[in-house]
Amino acid sequence: MKTALFDAHCDTAFELFRKGERLKQNSGHIDLQRVGEYVHYAQIFAFCSLSGLKNLPWTAEELLQKPLTYLRKQVAENLASIAFAASAADVLRLWAENRCAALLSVEGAEVIGCDPQWLPWLREQGFVMTTLTWNADNALAGWHQSLQGLTAQGRDFVSEAQSLGLLIDVSHLSEAAFWDLIRFTSAPIVASHSNCRSICDHSRNLTDDQLRAIGETGGAVGLNLYPPFLGEQGGFDLLRRHLEHMLRLCGERHVMLGGDLDGCDTLVSGFRGVDSYASFYEYLLGCGYAPALLEDLFYHNLLRLL
Ligand SMILES: [Zn+2]
Repeated sequence: MKTALFDAHCDTAFELFRKGERLKQNSGHIDLQRVGEYVHYAQIFAFCSLSGLKNLPWTAEELLQKPLTYLRKQVAENLASIAFAASAADVLRLWAENRCAALLSVEGAEVIGCDPQWLPWLREQGFVMTTLTWNADNALAGWHQSLQGLTAQGRDFVSEAQSLGLLIDVSHLSEAAFWDLIRFTSAPIVASHSNCRSICDHSRNLTDDQLRAIGETGGAVGLNLYPPFLGEQGGFDLLRRHLEHMLRLCGERHVMLGGDLDGCDTLVSGFRGVDSYASFYEYLLGCGYAPALLEDLFYHNLLRLL
C-alpha cells in the first residue's frame, strides 16, 4: 500500500544552507532520493528567525533571504522532480506531472521585521503560512513560555496575512496570544508542528481546549516527531497516542503531519527521516485505521487548507 505525503513543517532549507548540502541527497532528514517511497510528495519548508538565540552570524532578515536563495537554487537544479507551489492547485498540477511540490512558510515574523507591510511581498514570493513568534517575544505576540498576548501590531499582522490568504500558524505561540487570536480570527488556524499537552506537558504542545478550538476554526494540527514533545520513550505507539487524542479533540479532518524534520536533533524511535513516514503509514493501516482517514492525515487535510 502506498500513500501521498504532505508535511506541514521542516527546517530543511536552513540546514541545507548551513551545511552547504544538496536537496537531491544529503545527511539530514529530507532529500529527493528518499521521497520515492510516496505516490506524491509535498513539503512546507519553514524559514526561522531563530529569535532568542545569541551570537548568530546572521540577522533575522538574512535567515529568510539566504536559505531561500539557497533552496531556490536547489529546486532549480532538480526541476524534473520538484518545483515551487503556492496553492493547492499548484500542488495538484505538480503531482499530475509526477513532481514534488515545495511550499514556503515563515517561523518567527522577525524575518520580515514583524511588519505587516511586508506580507504582500511574502505572498508574492509564494509563502503560504506564517507563525507570529519563534522562541522569544516580539512586536506581535508572546512566545510559548510567555504570558504576553497578541499586541495591536499582532492583530494588524494577522488581519493582513489572512486577507492575503496566508495561514496563521500557532506553533511556538503563547497561550494568551492563542486565545486573543481565536477570538477574532476570520480564517482557519493551524498549529503546524505541535503535540498534545495532556499527554506530554510541554509549553510547545497544545491543551485540550486549544486542540478543540483549532478544529472549530476549520484548521489543523500537525503531529510532531520530536521526542521531548512526545513525552516518555516510545515509537509509533507513542505517536499514535498523540494522534488518537488529536483525532478525538480536533476531528478527523483537522489533523495533519508536521514532523519538524531537520529541526530535531533526535527523532521518535522508528523514524530516521522522511522515508519513515511510509513505515508509520503501514503501522497505522495495521492498527486498523481506514485508508480514507489516513489519506486525510497524510496529505488531504493540509491540501484542503491551501
Ligand atoms: Zn518550530
